[in-house]
Amino acid sequence: MGFPKTLQEFQATFPDEESCWEALRNVRWPRGFVCPRCESRESCWISTRRLEQCRGCRYQCSVTAGTIFHGTRVPLLTWFWAIFFLARHKKGISALQLQRDTGIGSYETAWAMLHKLRSTLGPRPEDRLTGLVEADESYVGASERGLRGGRMLVGKTLVAGAVEHRPHGAGRVRLAVIEGLTFEQHLGPFVRGVIDPTQATVRTDGFQGYRRLSKVGVRHERLVQGTDPARSVEILPWVHRVFGNLKTWLRGTFHGVSGKHLPRYLAEFVYRFDRRWRDGELFGFVLQRAAQGEPFPYRRLVAERGR
Ligand SMILES: [Zn+2]
Repeated sequence: MGFPKTLQEFQATFPDEESCWEALRNVRWPRGFVCPRCESRESCWISTRRLEQCRGCRYQCSVTAGTIFHGTRVPLLTWFWAIFFLARHKKGISALQLQRDTGIGSYETAWAMLHKLRSTLGPRPEDRLTGLVEADESYVGASERGLRGGRMLVGKTLVAGAVEHRPHGAGRVRLAVIEGLTFEQHLGPFVRGVIDPTQATVRTDGFQGYRRLSKVGVRHERLVQGTDPARSVEILPWVHRVFGNLKTWLRGTFHGVSGKHLPRYLAEFVYRFDRRWRDGELFGFVLQRAAQGEPFPYRRLVAERGR
């Protein structure tokens, strides 16, 4: 199935609610439905109830079971619009803009939809960074100053970053919220969790928080930058660029983001960054993630809201 790249293509591919349900069925069961109970391949689609029913044992399987669409009251077509904007707009879309563009009843609904989508976009744990990898950390918040000097800053969230350093630019990127700057609890587990230690060499500046990397079996290139901040950009150009892009994106599209929700924004940023050369395919990728994603209950989102 081809996925839309333009608004015209979207309208032609998904003219109505039914066409979206058909697409979701194809994504859920790309090789056709197989009954989980009796393994029969014979089934019929009960479109009024969005159920696939096995002709052998009459087992019924909801097409939304085990997806983020489970239990939603929002039309699937509206969800598809949300996926389209998230995938096709270079900077994604804010909840307010989504509400305006689709006529969704409330801001809260638009907000929750986007967060449910983001919650499925994190990198696969087995997908590890290789080659030369730059690692650094930065405060994400209202002001740029205070890195390392001002660890007590209120309203700022510490983000660790790792970026593949390739001859002509950045490769893949990983970002995570961290609670502090110790090696044992924060920087060490982050770096070790995102790289393939058999194939990666990690480059950092002189910060002592990374010092013990080589002691735990990570090839480590520690470059002491001295007092000149420009030198640090020279040593770690791509991770600096990524942090800059991230902050611009959060400020520009969302006018700042609370620390509680930041991990999901990071997932969206990384997802788009890693696929920036394949943006024509993003709609299909995001739809697939949404169809495989665990249902993310609204009450959990709301509980995490506030602040
Ligand atoms: Zn069956």
